[in-house]
Amino acid sequence: MKILCVTAHPDDESVFAGGTLALLAGRGAEAGILCCTRGEGGEAGEPPLCTRAELGTVRTEELRCAARALGCAAVDFLPFRDPDVGPDNALHAFAGSAEEVMARMMDYFTAAKPDAVITHGSSGEYGHPGHRLAHRACVEAARRSGVPVLYSFSADHADHPRKQSANRNDPADFVVEIGPAFEQKLAAMACHRTQIALFVRKASADAGRPVPLRDVIRRLESFHRVFPRDPKPSDGRDIVALLGEFLAPLRRDGEA
Ligand SMILES: [Zn+2]
Repeated sequence: MKILCVTAHPDDESVFAGGTLALLAGRGAEAGILCCTRGEGGEAGEPPLCTRAELGTVRTEELRCAARALGCAAVDFLPFRDPDVGPDNALHAFAGSAEEVMARMMDYFTAAKPDAVITHGSSGEYGHPGHRLAHRACVEAARRSGVPVLYSFSADHADHPRKQSANRNDPADFVVEIGPAFEQKLAAMACHRTQIALFVRKASADAGRPVPLRDVIRRLESFHRVFPRDPKPSDGRDIVALLGEFLAPLRRDGEA
């Protein structure tokens, strides 16, 4: 079974789906990553580990390192440039329209023929315009190129470990307790060396206390099946069947 994780930036794969990708690869799935940009516009670390001009090259290698840690077979990039984070930390999308992104993704899906695709949620997790753009383009590209099943990550459920980045309009269809893949996910996150200060700063702000990288890692990863909604895909095409004993109980908000 061939599973493709489609993201906007290097690190999204590890943050939102790293444990699940590692578990799937461990169960014999062929997992790959398609990243729309090389994260050129992000942070370079504290203190900076490279110049701004070098950041795309450095983050390309960071993503390759993370993919190895997760057991992912392949990493590919689309030729979009991640725009610089603006004044006041304003975030921007990496392309002017979903159509141009969709066209590139369709070419890739047609050649790669994934059995299932995993991508960003409809709200871009915490509202990131680049994540939302990747979601919109990916949903349409996957439909048009005949991808059998599409999931989005960071789906909403009562036990979401960071509600600020749950996609509120994407109810979780299943939740994965990444347990045995925790160390792999930690290693993958640590590969993104230019981003570690950012991970720790965000998590510390959320927690109201300084937290180490280990405590940044989410142990629950959640997924919404974008399509098909009904009927459910048969077992052979559904990653849920592969995840078996790693599925956690699913609770909606308001449920005991
Ligand atoms: Zn991102």
